[in-house]
Amino acid sequence: MVEFTPVEKIPGVVQELRKTFDEGITKDLAFRKQQLEKMLLFLDENSKQIEQALFKDLHKPSIESVTAEIAPIVDECKYMIKNLERLAKPSHPKKRFALNASDKTYIRKEPKGVALIIGAWNYPVHLLLLPVVGAIAAGNCAVIKPSEVAEHTNELMEKALPKYLDPCAYAVVSAGVVETTALLEQRFDHIFYTGNGAVGRIVMTAAAKHLTPVTLELGGKSPAIVTDTADIELTAHRLLWGKLYNTGQTCVAPDYVLVAQEKQEALIAAFRKTVQEFFGKNAQESDSYGRIINQRQFDRLQRILDGIASDKIVVGGQTDRENLFVAPTIVSPVQADDPHLMQDEIFGPILPIIAVKDLKEAVDIVNSKDKPLAMYIFAGKSSDYNYIMDKTNSGGTLVNDTLMHLQEMSLPFGGIGPSGMGSYHGDRSFDTFTHERSTMIKSTSLEAVNQARYPPYSDSKKQLMSVLVFGLPSAAGAKIKAITTVFGAAWDIFFSSSKQNNQDSKL
Ligand code: NAD
Repeated sequence: MVEFTPVEKIPGVVQELRKTFDEGITKDLAFRKQQLEKMLLFLDENSKQIEQALFKDLHKPSIESVTAEIAPIVDECKYMIKNLERLAKPSHPKKRFALNASDKTYIRKEPKGVALIIGAWNYPVHLLLLPVVGAIAAGNCAVIKPSEVAEHTNELMEKALPKYLDPCAYAVVSAGVVETTALLEQRFDHIFYTGNGAVGRIVMTAAAKHLTPVTLELGGKSPAIVTDTADIELTAHRLLWGKLYNTGQTCVAPDYVLVAQEKQEALIAAFRKTVQEFFGKNAQESDSYGRIINQRQFDRLQRILDGIASDKIVVGGQTDRENLFVAPTIVSPVQADDPHLMQDEIFGPILPIIAVKDLKEAVDIVNSKDKPLAMYIFAGKSSDYNYIMDKTNSGGTLVNDTLMHLQEMSLPFGGIGPSGMGSYHGDRSFDTFTHERSTMIKSTSLEAVNQARYPPYSDSKKQLMSVLVFGLPSAAGAKIKAITTVFGAAWDIFFSSSKQNNQDSKL
């Protein structure tokens, strides 16, 4: 059982981190790199314990623990260490305003301050530590809140991580609803939350009280559209792999399939064959198949299955509550407004298949729902996937595969509308935890030219400002007049200011 951090200790934890941040310790690039190295050491020295905790929590196959939980964080740490100087150095956008021509302008990349990072249970290492890497790299302090639902992983994080990361700058807080509510009452400089949209709204409401910026990594119903030009064999492998990875408990798992009606039968036959290839006759006996996180989630999935007529379950349907097992299950035919399968995110190994007569019908179904986190399109023709992308919105889109776009950390990852706001991964993680401070160092010379913007205003100053700011008028006569006026005005201003300077120097 995870022991939660006592509510009364929470304000002190945040204050301590703020003190560290104000001292500037985490801004130092060498410190950031050292902490990223410590994170690598934590992952290296605890990889077995992490795998064990994930197995206890989710029956996660070892290969999934390594490739989806540990490896992406190792990769991200190494990327940040290698790219930190580039990411942290100021940028110098090309100046546009003529009056600032001789001044220095740049954008300082500054850490936001103290961040709160709230993880979710389905990838309890990856979803917690990947944003932490971004927060460290950008120079922030952070409260790290694992999901208490994945209790073994939560316990490991709480006990082991503080032995590696500097506890003055990074604090692991174990929290249920009561403690997280207390945490959210504190003032943070950024809140990064991963989980469902209902809690996302609670987080955003709490953040609004302090006007704290948020990143919300949420979920929803991500569609897979299988067009009549798709390679059915390949589609069955790649689509079911993404659906059944982590037993369907993946935010970007394909939630439902929209298939061209003439391909429906072939796709179901290919799915049937693929399930056997992947997990044998009985997935419960396969080492490659996980379990549902807890009985609450199991019961939710069981209720979905109970609402489906048995003749529609074309593959699977078996469950075992004691063992938290739900078989890979395919349901067909399904209507787009099915009350059990097509309202909420399924978040488990149940896959409804809806036949559509053309791409337009598929697009209409997608657009009748919230904008999804991911959209998968299986198509042999670019005109098919371009049509679908042009007519829809989604956080990300992957053509002819599932999940792989998430592993490509050069692409920002995030949702749109109810599937989330903000994004991260690689450079975007760094930016998420960074404030871009616009900076201008004004030259103290050329005060004569600057006289043009000071009162008392005159027509000649107006001409000068118009020419400098907006460019010369186009008509040739007007141009000459403006140039003469500008030179005249500049001369007057220069002459009067140097006269003034001379008088000043005599004083
Ligand atoms: P969860 O139950 O672990 O909850 C997420 C976090 O919210 C936990 O840390 C939990 O302690 C906290 N929490 C729960 N109730 C709270 C409350 N009342 N006040 C404050 N904090 C509270 O995970 P979940 O929400 O069941 O996760 C599944 C959902 O998350 C799915 O919708 C899935 O699609 C989505 N998800 C999205 C991503 C992504 O990257 N976009 C990743 C994983 C999961």
